[in-house]
Amino acid sequence: MKVIILGSGTCVPSLNRNAPGYYLEAEGCRVLVDCGSGTLLQLEKAGMSYKDIDAVFITHAHPDHFADLLPLIHALLVGHEMKRKKDLSLFCAKEFLEYYEKAIAPLLWMSEEFSIIAKEASDEISFGPFHIFSAGTVHSSDSLSYRFENGGKSVVFTGDADYDPRLIAHAHQADLLIADCSFPDSMKAKGHLSAKECGMVAREAEVKKLVLSHLYPSGSPDSERVNESGEIYKGNILLAEDLMEIVL
Ligand SMILES: [Zn+2]
Ligand SMILES: [Zn+2]
Repeated sequence: MKVIILGSGTCVPSLNRNAPGYYLEAEGCRVLVDCGSGTLLQLEKAGMSYKDIDAVFITHAHPDHFADLLPLIHALLVGHEMKRKKDLSLFCAKEFLEYYEKAIAPLLWMSEEFSIIAKEASDEISFGPFHIFSAGTVHSSDSLSYRFENGGKSVVFTGDADYDPRLIAHAHQADLLIADCSFPDSMKAKGHLSAKECGMVAREAEVKKLVLSHLYPSGSPDSERVNESGEIYKGNILLAEDLMEIVL
């Protein structure tokens, strides 16, 4: 599996950290996990293309996590130089599915060439070469984390999440945990993991590698969050950077 971090930031506009978005690829299947504003451009910068995306998994209905969904579908419908044949799948919680059907789908028209298949994410999903598990998180009423498994490897995207035993079970012995690390511990915000809590989840879940992402500006260097997590979790910790690539 290959992961590219398209956006390591949040809803706060930043020249260095785009809004949340992750690209995941295995066996020729290409998916996005979240697609905040700027995700399509970040894909281009990473040398990938919106044209190839097979599915989008939305973690929750906060705009920084889905704002580029409408532009993505619009581009797929309009693109003159390509005739898209394959369907695009959308997986999300029930609340976002209702929002999609009320607010996004009515703005779009049907393609004769392909369909957009929007589905509520069940606890276990089989998509292409991936086996995917979803689990609710402590953040908003519809927030999900996703665990993707392929070829004996696993990667967990927490989405936005607070410290929670469910998350630890969900991430158990994952090869890679990409965690909401919104703030250092001194600025802990309810509904998000602090850097120290990211370390606690990584240690208790016994993950092999921890990536700190969803980084709000805090007034102190982001690298200090690695130190805070590292006091708890003694495994491999990376600070997410936009366009960082991780191969599992
Ligand atoms: Zn959120
Ligand atoms: Zn967020």
